[in-house]
Amino acid sequence: VAKSEGRGRYVTYDADRDARQAARYALAAAMPDALDRREFTLVYQPLVSLADGRLTGVEALVRWKHPELGELGPDAFIPLAEETGVILALGSWVLEEACGQAAYWARAFPSAHLSVSVNMTVSQVHEPTLPADVEKILSRTGLDPSLLVLELTESAVMDNDSAPLRALAERGIRIAIDDFGTGYSNLAYLRRLPVHILKLAGPFVDGLRGAQPPAASPPAASPPAASPPAASPPAASPPAASPAASSPASPPAVSSSAADRSSPTRTVDEQIVETIVRLAHVIGLSVTAEAVETRPQADRLRALGCDTGQGWLFARPQRPNEITELLRRTTFPASPGTVDGSQDL
Ligand code: C2E
Ligand code: MG
Ligand code: MG
Ligand code: MG
Repeated sequence: VAKSEGRGRYVTYDADRDARQAARYALAAAMPDALDRREFTLVYQPLVSLADGRLTGVEALVRWKHPELGELGPDAFIPLAEETGVILALGSWVLEEACGQAAYWARAFPSAHLSVSVNMTVSQVHEPTLPADVEKILSRTGLDPSLLVLELTESAVMDNDSAPLRALAERGIRIAIDDFGTGYSNLAYLRRLPVHILKLAGPFVDGLRGAQPPAASPPAASPPAASPPAASPPAASPPAASPAASSPASPPAVSSSAADRSSPTRTVDEQIVETIVRLAHVIGLSVTAEAVETRPQADRLRALGCDTGQGWLFARPQRPNEITELLRRTTFPASPGTVDGSQDL
């Protein structure tokens, strides 16, 4: 504040900044108690197979039901929690809550094989006790490790010691790289670390918006992208929540003009997605597309070989009981090993 004296122009700016800082400190300071008071909750967003629309997993996403500020999204407090170190306590609550919930779903709907994905920050991944902590949570909750996916960003795995992640992978836990393509272009970590899933970042998916070039490719040669068994999964979200129509913020245009210069049939974004998918498959990884908002995006992703989709087109993040309802309404194929000749229709 003293800094701004005699420099009237900056008083407001500094005051705003101070107020913002104070609000951040207050929020950060309130987190440990909020954890004790159980003000944090998890919502779960469906992940669906793009080939047949089947529900294959859910991603746990944290929310803070703040007594004065209302429901806060993770962007409002996760970075803060990371700065102050509270993320370790919050993160272990998230992991235990998500594993407990997934273990319940596994018991109630064993043939669903529903996996749960949990986001991890840099400092969580760098915690030396991570493998032991995860192990304890698995044994307390009874979750089969093959149903747990840990989502790490590229920055979290960049200079990571590979041993802890290997220990987790050896237990059957899967590792996903979140927001793939937004971080580093150095992919050396893919050779060094056990990675199972690439989560293709939203902007690439966004670039597919309306990207289907009209009659650019010969109909006979092109994949049947026109009408896949429409991943019309879980009509989980309320019909009103059709995001495709309600996202005026996104650029309406087809990706870039360079696209048409380099190929008559693929935009640049499509070629990037196609190349990432091919790379992933060659090295044995699967690809999940994030933030799928429109049917044409899902159709293109499927045609480009992408395995799994997540986004408002399929479902918004849901309360646990809504996922339970979804599972109740879904018929799953008989689990492998159940050879009794009966068809589960
Ligand atoms: P993320 O892991 O990339 O999660 C996906 C985010 O995209 C979620 O936002 C989700 O609600 C949003 N999303 C889903 N479908 C669509 C769509 O079709 N269009 C668009 N535009 N967005 C969509 P959310 O829940 O606000 O989470 C934001 C980020 O916060 C997450 O990004 C993740 O990095 C972090 N986060 C969330 N929960 C946790 C947690 O429990 N622990 C940690 N460490 N981080 C978390
Ligand atoms: Mg994630
Ligand atoms: Mg992501
Ligand atoms: Mg993210």
